[in-house]
Amino acid sequence: MRGDEDGLTALVEEARWALDVCNACQFCDGYCAVFPALKRRQSLALADLALLSNLCHNCRSCYHACQYAPPHAFAVNLPKSLSRLRHQSYRDHAWPKALAGRLRRNGRFVLSVTLLAVVATLLLAVLWLPPEVLLGRHAGPGAFYRVLPWGVIAGAAGLAAGWSLLAVGLGVVAFWRSLGPPPAGAAMLPALREALRDAATLRNLGGGGVGCNDRDERFSQARRRFHHAMAYGFALCFASTMVATAYDHLLGWPAPYPVLSAPVLLGCLGGAGLMVGTAGLALLQRRAHPGPVAPELIGADRALLAQLFLTAASGFCLLAARETPAMGPLLAIHLGIVLGFFITLPCGKFLHAPFRAAALLRAALERQASGNGRSR
Ligand code: SF4
Ligand code: SF4
Repeated sequence: MRGDEDGLTALVEEARWALDVCNACQFCDGYCAVFPALKRRQSLALADLALLSNLCHNCRSCYHACQYAPPHAFAVNLPKSLSRLRHQSYRDHAWPKALAGRLRRNGRFVLSVTLLAVVATLLLAVLWLPPEVLLGRHAGPGAFYRVLPWGVIAGAAGLAAGWSLLAVGLGVVAFWRSLGPPPAGAAMLPALREALRDAATLRNLGGGGVGCNDRDERFSQARRRFHHAMAYGFALCFASTMVATAYDHLLGWPAPYPVLSAPVLLGCLGGAGLMVGTAGLALLQRRAHPGPVAPELIGADRALLAQLFLTAASGFCLLAARETPAMGPLLAIHLGIVLGFFITLPCGKFLHAPFRAAALLRAALERQASGNGRSR
């Protein structure tokens, strides 16, 4: 416990020092939203550090541009310091509090829970279903539900998704509250529009627009493209689930659907985006320059990428084998991976998305209040 406090104090001091140097230097002011937000502050309380860290998209441009980065004696390493602070902000606002401990070096934990969910779902299917049902051929409308009843699939997925929504939502609310009341005179709607645009386009990812420094001082748009593929792939998979739910409950058309139907086409496009995006990001991470990387956080990144890749891959396997005896076990495996993803969502890397969106909104509100709505 004492070690934790000492570590946190050292982390905060290191970040304050680096940001003080940046405030004096101002070389990177046009790179992202962190630097203008820094300039709007006279001092850096813990809440300010949490906000700045969540505004950072970890593009690493400021590290490669910095004349004070290691081996300089100042050792300014903003991406690394802000990554650690960002992770600390997830721990500080985790709900329930017990999850804070699970957010430490949690790649193995996230993958273990996912594996456990897969094994448990498969085991339940083997113990519960007669072999001729689990390994039988099922075709036509309602085929999935002849293996696992709709109530079981919807109940398990609904519980896991409800849990993650509640836990992530309360965590983000706690983070928002910790930032204090929104600045007076800020217009919420324009700020919301600006924040949504910044989040959807990843405007801050890439040193003022020229790209990230994934490997070295050369700029590249690869990270932005892979991240877009992953994020929009995720959104399309969600849309596919929503359309399928509407087909089933509003129109009375139960899954599975033909290949040329909206849920399958949306799911295929989304799944392809997820696989390409996560594989690309994993590759970039392997090749990344180690200087601006916080090594203890790599496991959490990889675990989320693996979860999303496996969700899409198992979905494709299920689609390819849905009229064969492998459909039952594949359905159980896919459901297990989805359950593992949702159960671990409030204590994994996925938290960066809602926390960053909240930080972007707060920065947009500050710009509105200072009458500087269009700049970063
Ligand atoms: S990261 Fe380095 S170059 Fe950029 S503003 Fe800070 S001190 Fe200056
Ligand atoms: S977003 Fe990029 S430029 Fe901005 S602080 Fe983070 S690493 Fe540096």
